[in-house]
Amino acid sequence: MRPTWAEINIEALKSNFLQVKRIVNRKVGVISIVKADAYGHGAIAVSRALIEAGSDMLGVATLSEALELRESGINAPIILLGGVLPNEAESVVKNDLTPSLFSLDSAEVLDKHAEKTGRKVKYHLKVDTGMGRLGVGVEEICGFLAGICSFKNLEMEGVFTHFANADKEACDFTLKQISVFKPVLSLITQSGCYPKYVHLANSAGIQRFPESHGNLVRPGIMLYGSGSTGEYDLKPVMRLKTRIIQLKKLSAGTPVSYGGTFVTKRPSLIATLPVGYADGYMRSLSNRARVSINGLTAPVVGTVCMDLTMIDVTGVQGVNVGDDVVLFGDDKVSIEDVARWADTISYELLSITGKRVTRTYV
Ligand SMILES: *Cc1c(COP(=O)(O)O)cnc(C)c1O
Repeated sequence: MRPTWAEINIEALKSNFLQVKRIVNRKVGVISIVKADAYGHGAIAVSRALIEAGSDMLGVATLSEALELRESGINAPIILLGGVLPNEAESVVKNDLTPSLFSLDSAEVLDKHAEKTGRKVKYHLKVDTGMGRLGVGVEEICGFLAGICSFKNLEMEGVFTHFANADKEACDFTLKQISVFKPVLSLITQSGCYPKYVHLANSAGIQRFPESHGNLVRPGIMLYGSGSTGEYDLKPVMRLKTRIIQLKKLSAGTPVSYGGTFVTKRPSLIATLPVGYADGYMRSLSNRARVSINGLTAPVVGTVCMDLTMIDVTGVQGVNVGDDVVLFGDDKVSIEDVARWADTISYELLSITGKRVTRTYV
């Protein structure tokens, strides 16, 4: 095995899930968001652990993500957050998945397939209250309800919306989204639908907007131990690790890696790590990131390559080939640190963790 792996701490994951449960009222259910391979942590193992911890449902972005879970034997309710394309409807019905709906074309095809099975297909209506992305616009909702009610084999189980700015300091936009959503609920009941579930809150909403909890919440990033808005104790779940595969002494004035963007200023001890941007260790970390080694941190020097990265360990005592290096996820280097160095967010770093990085579950 190539010594670059992601340790996934299942206890930390469960502890973060319980943190969500502590924040929300005890009658509020949880859709654990496991899209993008559970933000890079491995959707099957993560989903099993979260169901064991008490998750009511799972949320994924795409049909193939849902099918992966079904094929692994997971039979919990799975919501397709990204909706359903007409050519996916048959599989959605067959595999007992819960689509989010915002298109009457998809609804029509779903209705046809549902009719064949003799069962009603449950769906969650997605409303766009300010994200400008998927969902039925608030001004189109009456027309949509008239259309969707004509399909006899569909049942509105839930209605939801998604926040655009819940993690931003200013609350006004989120409060506006919440207030725009309320009259939609009355319109829905007036149309004769009584959805069992109402949900709005992502991780930031859960932590900062109790009035948005409805009776179901949709945590993603906080389950993985990031995205804390300050008050709550979340534990990092992924620790990305590698091992030194070569050590070399370079004299002062020697360039390191493509383009010679780093040149040693002193006689230096440079370690090569078998990790690169193809593993999700972004090229923008070149000459910016630090890694954790032997209780200290060491800088990444030169450009990050596709498969390899160099660090300067001149200042670290007793370094040997084969020593463990933590790229993020311990108390010296957090995912938030690395995200800041890469000019991105923890979500991106986690979800691009490469296929060839082995996940080990501890
Ligand atoms: C990804 C996603 C979430 C989870 O968001 P976090 O910020 O990771 O908590 C919730 N709802 C929807 C619709 C999503 O697409």
